[in-house]
Amino acid sequence: MHEMSLAVDLVEQLVDVLVREKSTRVIEINVVMGAMSGVERVPFEFAFPVAAEGTPIAGAVLNIEEVPLVLKCSDCNQETEPEDLIMICPQCNSISVEIVQGKEFLIKSMEVQ
Ligand SMILES: [Zn+2]
Repeated sequence: MHEMSLAVDLVEQLVDVLVREKSTRVIEINVVMGAMSGVERVPFEFAFPVAAEGTPIAGAVLNIEEVPLVLKCSDCNQETEPEDLIMICPQCNSISVEIVQGKEFLIKSMEVQ
């Protein structure tokens, strides 16, 4: 499962932060998950506590902030949030679009003790 390896990576990153901050425990973590990040929310929410088990991250509350896909079209110059996750401008049907937002998968903030 793809989400499990992502959850393990995330837990490893959190452990690194804990060591750096000389903290012992993570209470809460806020993650930004883009619509095009390739991460599925539900399996990730399932995988995270499993990956965290037996680490100082165990018991941390996981908050996920989902951000929509935003495209910028180089033909009509509009920024749009397409309803479907396809790389086509909903305004003019151009395929000359760039992803402005929606690919992120990162730690936004965390609370440690
Ligand atoms: Zn366009």
